[in-house]
Amino acid sequence: MKIKGLERFFKENPLMGYGPVTHDGEIRLNGKVELNHSYENYPAVQQLIDLKIIIPSGYPNTQPEFEEVGGFVPRIDEFHINPSGTLCLGSPFRIDKYLRVNSDFLEFFNAFFIPYIYAVALKKDHGINFVFGELKHGSEGELEDFASEIGLTNKEELIACAHALSQKKRIANKGPCPCNCGLRLGKCELHLQLNKLRKTLPRKWYRNFKARL
Ligand SMILES: [Zn+2]
Ligand SMILES: [Zn+2]
Repeated sequence: MKIKGLERFFKENPLMGYGPVTHDGEIRLNGKVELNHSYENYPAVQQLIDLKIIIPSGYPNTQPEFEEVGGFVPRIDEFHINPSGTLCLGSPFRIDKYLRVNSDFLEFFNAFFIPYIYAVALKKDHGINFVFGELKHGSEGELEDFASEIGLTNKEELIACAHALSQKKRIANKGPCPCNCGLRLGKCELHLQLNKLRKTLPRKWYRNFKARL
């Protein structure tokens, strides 16, 4: 399996290499990455991070997993550690949507892992709370990400949007609009918003999403 951007990832992170080969087609990366980052007036951080990365065979439709193994990230919820011990780099909605549009691994790493680990370093060493805003966590966080994309805030309405997105467009547009405007979805401006979301993630994804909410 050829992963777009992996060669460039190794070039930029020469202390990372391939881990043990597995038979299920996933790619394992082990080693260290050098965090060398600053943002606006926040302190610069220089830190070596011990990292294990799994790029599953379903990538980019399945998310890569990141695990910090050098004891740098405290294993507590407020540092966005998943129950399995992997790092929570953002909500599934945000990450899946990103990866369907851009599957470049190096760009994903720089867009999600670097800001996350920099924020962890600032929180840990300087007591500064997550600088890029609290990462969206769990199903509530995912709903918030979804809400900000759609522009509705009511949970029932958002679930109705997820339901509409899990249906075929033609059928959903005939149904009542999730925003409770009293129109059919196809007659409300909301359908334009939903059509955009249909382009990034498939119906099946929204069916699973709705089940998670
Ligand atoms: Zn989280
Ligand atoms: Zn409406």
